[in-house]
Parts: sequence; structure tokens; C-alpha cells
Amino acid sequence: MQTITLNNGLQMPILGYGTFQIEPKETQKCVEEALELGYRHIDTAAAYQNESELGAALKSSGLKREEIFITTKLWVNDVSEEGAKKGFENSLKNLGLDYIDLYLIHMPYNDIYGAWRTLSKLYKEGKIKALGVSNFLPDRITDFCLHNQIRPAINQIEIHPFYQNTYAQSINENLDVKVMSWASFAEGKNKIFSNEILKNIGKKYGKSPAQVILRWLLERGIPVIPKSVRKEKMRENVNIFDFNLDSNDMAKIACLEQNKSYFVMPNNPQHTQWIIQGKKIIDGKAVE
Ligand code: NAP
Repeated sequence: MQTITLNNGLQMPILGYGTFQIEPKETQKCVEEALELGYRHIDTAAAYQNESELGAALKSSGLKREEIFITTKLWVNDVSEEGAKKGFENSLKNLGLDYIDLYLIHMPYNDIYGAWRTLSKLYKEGKIKALGVSNFLPDRITDFCLHNQIRPAINQIEIHPFYQNTYAQSINENLDVKVMSWASFAEGKNKIFSNEILKNIGKKYGKSPAQVILRWLLERGIPVIPKSVRKEKMRENVNIFDFNLDSNDMAKIACLEQNKSYFVMPNNPQHTQWIIQGKKIIDGKAVE
């Protein structure tokens, strides 16, 4: 698996397997299949409530710990100096691991500075190999980098053909922070898998729109973590290392930009309130 070098020298597989919205009862089987197909980086979060099942899959895979890269995330209620240790230890226990490769503050809320102090200690003790954040907008990531000794290695943000986030990418990269794409497929919204532009580009290379999207992100130097519960789609999503897009293809995809989030918007106060209250947000509305 191709890797990317993070700002502390750590090698991270550039493609991982996303596990958001995978039911706990399905998770072990899905992760086992992903590992069988060659995925070596798995992305989860305390908030996904499937860390234990992921841990069971890691155990049954027989792979050595150092062969697998695990990302998990600290949820908002634990984002504080004391809470971060508790949240981290819970994740570690659920996953059945003794260190985490990449540990992210999931949302830019609560006491992110206090939490970072605790996480920095865990990093120095070797319990976390790289630290990062998620959903930090350009002003927030700038402030955060300039007020902390240890800079996030990753800022995991929404990036897909309809919300390309090129400005955020350049701000993060100037700070030596890599952006990682979540919802690379916009979770299938806006008929992304039957988009004519993506289909036509794919035809040239014998690839699907999904593969074109992932390749477009890799051409931009952006790590990806596509999610699928279907084995044939997992296989499709990992099979993206035998072709390249040219500048014409890249220019055509650039035209799909709509410049707006399809999901939670960290700059939307109502969404912020819902997230802090632990509500699920679907299509811009809170769901009980
Ligand atoms: P996504 O990867 O954009 O899309 C997943 C959807 O696409 C699922 O409905 C899946 O359906 C479908 N799909 C996958 N591969 C396909 C293919 N080759 N052809 C057709 N359909 C395909 O959405 P996501 O899961 O939201 O994002 C990816 C990962 O990013 C998550 O799993 C999670 O790990 C992470 N994430 C992080 C945050 C954050 O706040 N940090 C937020 C959201 C997500 P099936 O499963 O039915 O195949």
C-alpha cells in the first residue's frame, strides 16, 4: 500500500477504510473483508460506536500490529484536559490495542487546547504515533497551529467533487498539516456515481466514477478513507493505483465545484448546538 509521510515522519497508508455508519453487528465482518482485500488503514471514532467490533476484526486477522494503521477520534464531550485521557483510554480498550497510530480531535468544540495538552503527553509517551484534528476551518486550524508546540499532522475534512476545499487544503499545507478527505463520494448524494463527467473520464481508463474520484484526490496529494459495506465496492475502491488522471481530467472535475458543504457545517451555529447536544444531523436537520 502506498504511503504518505506526515509532518513528524510517520508513514501513513494513503488509502484507508472508513467505518462511519457501519452497524456494530456488521463491522467485524466488513473490516475483516477490507483487511483481506489489502486495506491497511482503518478509520473509526468513539462516536461511531463500533471500535470494539473493529478491534475483534484486527485480532482475528492475524496481522501484526505494526502492519495496520488505526485512526480513531475523541468525541466532543471528552474534549478537555481530563476528558481526553478518559476518552483515549476507552478507545484503546475498545480496540484492544496498546497504542493508536493517528488520534484526532473529532470536532473543533469544547476545550480543544486542554485536550491537546493531554494528548501531547500521550504522544510523547508513544501511546499515540501522530496527532490530528478534524473539521477545523482555515481560521481555527491557523490559530491552533500557532498556539501549540505540536502541530496536528492531519486535519480530516469534507472533500469531494462538489465541495473541493482547495483553499482549505492550501491553508493547511502552508501550516504543514495534511488534509484527509471524508465523504469522498459525498455519501452518494447528488447522483455522484452516475455523474456524466466522472463516467466519461472513467471510460478512458476502464474505471468507475468512484475510482475516478479517489484517484482525483490522490492526484491532489489527499489521503482517502472510502466506506462501503459491499465487498465488491471495497475491492473497486482499493483498485486505484494502476492509472493516473491527466490535467484535462483534473480541469473537468474542477468544474463540478459547488463550493458548499453537503453535511454538518462547523460554521453553522445551529449545527454546532446539535452536535454538542449529541444529535445526529441528516440533510441539514437534527434527528432525535
Ligand atoms: P463516503 O465514503 O463518501 O460514501 C459512502 C457511501 O458510498 C455509502 O453509501 C456506500 O454504500 C457508497 N459507496 C462506497 N463505495 C462505492 C462504490 N465504489 N460505488 C458505489 N457506491 C459506493 O462517505 P462516508 O462514509 O461518510 O465517508 C468516508 C469515511 O470518512 C467514513 O466512513 C468515516 O470513517 C470518515 N468520516 C469522518 C467524518 C469526520 O467528521 N471526521 C465525517 C464523515 C465521515 P455501501 O456502503 O452500501 O456500499
